[in-house]
Amino acid sequence: MDGHFNKLTPAEAERLAMLAEECGEVIQMIGKILRHGYDSYHPNDPSTTNRQLLGRELTDLLAVAAALCRDNVPEGSLHDQDQAWERKLRYAHHQEELVVECP
Ligand SMILES: [Mg+2]
Repeated sequence: MDGHFNKLTPAEAERLAMLAEECGEVIQMIGKILRHGYDSYHPNDPSTTNRQLLGRELTDLLAVAAALCRDNVPEGSLHDQDQAWERKLRYAHHQEELVVECP
């Protein structure tokens, strides 16, 4: 018996591990911001706010997500993203101001 039951190549498994790791890092930053605010910072690094750290983690996440095209994971177009946001707005309570495009 050779290969893994999930039939993932080592590269595919690694990309999924990277994706999970980046999702976790984004979630961690969301938790920090919910507890301490966007403009708070780690006491050991006052030069970097939670807002900046969230931006970095989102960049990491988007980079890894883009690499999943190698695994034929469909990548949503900007139009798909707009439609997804519109669906989210149907069940949101405080997003009225974001119906207009973000700066
Ligand atoms: Mg990261």
